[in-house]
Amino acid sequence: MTMAQALVLERQHELKLRDIDLPMDVGPGMVKIKIHTVGVCGSDVHYYTHGRIGPFVVNAPMVLGHEAAGTVVEIGQGVTHLKVGDRVCMEPGIPDPNSRASRLGMYNVDPAVTFWATPPIHGVLTPFVVHPANYTFKLPDNVSFAEGAMVEPFAVGMQAATKARITPGDTAVVLGAGPIGTMVAIAALAGGCARVIVADLAQPKLDIAARYQGVIPVNIREKSIVSEVKRLTEDWGADIVFECSGSPKAWETIMDLPRPGGTIVVVGLPVEPAPFDIATASTKEIRIETVFRYAHQYDRAIALFASGRVDLKPLISETFAFKDSVAAFERAVEARPSDVKLQIRMPD
Ligand SMILES: [Zn+2]
Repeated sequence: MTMAQALVLERQHELKLRDIDLPMDVGPGMVKIKIHTVGVCGSDVHYYTHGRIGPFVVNAPMVLGHEAAGTVVEIGQGVTHLKVGDRVCMEPGIPDPNSRASRLGMYNVDPAVTFWATPPIHGVLTPFVVHPANYTFKLPDNVSFAEGAMVEPFAVGMQAATKARITPGDTAVVLGAGPIGTMVAIAALAGGCARVIVADLAQPKLDIAARYQGVIPVNIREKSIVSEVKRLTEDWGADIVFECSGSPKAWETIMDLPRPGGTIVVVGLPVEPAPFDIATASTKEIRIETVFRYAHQYDRAIALFASGRVDLKPLISETFAFKDSVAAFERAVEARPSDVKLQIRMPD
């Protein structure tokens, strides 16, 4: 263990930048990374404000942060695909590689997975981290650290687009224009959707999403999303609906949105169980898919960034210095509708 400065969530409502003991042994198959940029995620903020997410409870001080990019500074025995000096980003979830889920290729749903900044596992708002090389991905020269730290949230969008099984030219609907909804819309367009109708109550969020070609914003304070989708699809319905709001209200009318034989991809999670119209789902033979984080999406996300087809830089609202991490979190708690992604930069 090594003492290092880190942004520590002591308990609900109490954040401190202080020294903490962290494991820094570079074992076989591991790499040590000097962290450059870390994104502030809704889940980090939720642990700060609520002290828990579902079954995960902050019972001991925990370092926050899981959306990170940095530079390899040391490599462990047997690591061949990375070298010192490589710029990288990291998957925060580490599964048991021999588990049944991992062997099926679904390592994201391995019950034994550990995930940065999910109690009791420390996150990466600290200058260095040791991580399995197999979950560390080299960034091409034309992908910045800031973009590298966006790969993690974008991977959720990639997973949703993959689960949707998009056909080129599809029309999609995204309910909820938060950071994840916006990234789902961008991933759906990259995956072949001709247009994505994005619905939200907050006009500033819609304005940001609408900067991307193919996004059709709908402010549901002013218009019904059901009638807008009907109008835009000549009463047929959308091929795919991505539910990203997490609002139980969305489920009251969601079955009116997909076309017969269409698909609903569940991304947002209502806190409580939500009822939905099974009879209509059956009558239309709706396929329902779910998403839990992501698997096998990092290399694809990085390839899209490198190609120039996906540019998430406009979604980075502000960058804070590490010493101002607590201020960054206070800003995130404000939840300004014009903020998409706040990032924290570690000292050089
Ligand atoms: Zn995240």
